[in-house]
Amino acid sequence: MDGLFNSKDKLTAKRVTARTVCWLNVDKPTKQTIIHHAGCKWEVHKTETTYKGIGEILRDGGWLQFDSEREAVEHSTSNYPAYAIKHCLNCS
Ligand SMILES: [Zn+2]
Repeated sequence: MDGLFNSKDKLTAKRVTARTVCWLNVDKPTKQTIIHHAGCKWEVHKTETTYKGIGEILRDGGWLQFDSEREAVEHSTSNYPAYAIKHCLNCS
């Protein structure tokens, strides 16, 4: 496995392992929250719009960052109890 990485990539991989970053896509129109892991193509290409924030919740929801999947799920359960929690099909 190590052979696949050059030294720079090793450092990056260590950082990601030490702090697993999770994103919660809160989607108010469809009443669901979707959990993504850092680096997912949907997470990488997320864009802030008038109604969808990054790091803040706007009219239609937004993307919130968490240190772990557990925290993202807890946030969804306590703040959006009526919403379905889904895992991204691309990265989960
Ligand atoms: Zn994803």
